[in-house]
Amino acid sequence: MLKKGFRVLAEKLGFLINPILLNIKGENNQLLVFFFHGIYKSLEQKNLSHIDPQSNMTTDQLDDFLDYFLNYDYKFVKPEELLEGLQLDQRYIMITFDDGYFNNLLAIEVLRKYKIPAAFFLTAKNIAENRPFWWDIIYKYRYKQGYSLEKIRKEQGYLKRFKYNYIDDYIIQNFGIKSFEPWSDIDRPLNEMEVKSLARDPFAAIGNHTSNHSILTNCSKREIKEEFIESNKFLISVTGTSPISIAFPNGYFNHLVLEVAEEVGFRLAFSVVPKKNHLPLENGKLICISRFMANTNIIKNYGSFYRLGYTPGSLFSDIRKLGNPFL
Ligand SMILES: [Zn+2]
Repeated sequence: MLKKGFRVLAEKLGFLINPILLNIKGENNQLLVFFFHGIYKSLEQKNLSHIDPQSNMTTDQLDDFLDYFLNYDYKFVKPEELLEGLQLDQRYIMITFDDGYFNNLLAIEVLRKYKIPAAFFLTAKNIAENRPFWWDIIYKYRYKQGYSLEKIRKEQGYLKRFKYNYIDDYIIQNFGIKSFEPWSDIDRPLNEMEVKSLARDPFAAIGNHTSNHSILTNCSKREIKEEFIESNKFLISVTGTSPISIAFPNGYFNHLVLEVAEEVGFRLAFSVVPKKNHLPLENGKLICISRFMANTNIIKNYGSFYRLGYTPGSLFSDIRKLGNPFL
C-alpha cells in the first residue's frame, strides 16, 4: 500500500522535477534498454485474455513509445552495434522482445515506419513445438475459471521455483495435454518459417532465450549449458547464424549463469535490472546489459524517469535502502 502510494506520488513529482534534473545532468553517454513481451493489434485483442496481459502493449502504444524517444534524439541500436562500440556524447536506446510470440511481428510494421531496429530473444522449444508459454496457459485457463489476478500471480510465482519438466507435468495435470495447443495467433509462438524471415529482416536481430525458458538460477551447470547450447543449435539450424546475445528468462542470473554464458561464447547478456547502462560499456568477453521493463503507462508522463535511469519503483527501493542499509 505504502509502495503504491509512493509510486503515485513519485510519478506526480517526477513529472515536474525530472525535466529540471535532466537539464542539469544531461542524458548523453547512456544506453537505455527496454524489454517487451506480447504486442496486441488493439485493446479488443487484449480483452480476449488469450495471454497474460503483464505489460503487453498495443501497436499504438509502441508507436508512442518509439516516437517519444526519437523526439529526445535517442538513437536506436541493435546488439551488434554495442560490440562495435558506441560513440560518446550521444544517447542510445535499444528495444528487445522476449519469448518469441508470433504477435511480435505486429511490432515490425511500427519498426519499419520509423526505421528502427530491435532484438528478439526466442525460446527454442516453444517455437519448435508450437506450444504456448506456460504462464499464459495458467493465466487464460484460470481467468476463465474466474480466479482473481492475485491468485493467478501466486500460482505463477510458485511454479517459477521449479524446473521446466515439473512445470510441464503440472500444466498437463491441471489443464490436460490439449492446453499445449494455442488458442489463436495471440498466444502462439512464432513458427520456424517466421523466425527465418524475421532473421532476414534488416530491422531485427535474433538472440537466445534458452530452450525451455528455464529459470537458470534453478539449474545445475550442466543444465544451464544444455539450455544455451540446445537453443543455439535450433537457432543456427533455422537462421544459419549463431546468436551473440542471451536474455535470461525472468532476468534471473548468478555467477554460474554468467560463467556458462561466457563459456558458450555469448558476447552480450541481458538482465532485467532496471537501470541505465553508462557509456563506454564495460569491455569484458561477456558484457552485461541492464534493461527496463516497458510498461503501458503513458510514455509522455513516464519517460523522464527512464531517461534519468529510474522507474518510480526502483526509486522507492533505493530510498528504502538509504533509510535502512540492511534491507
Ligand atoms: Zn521470457
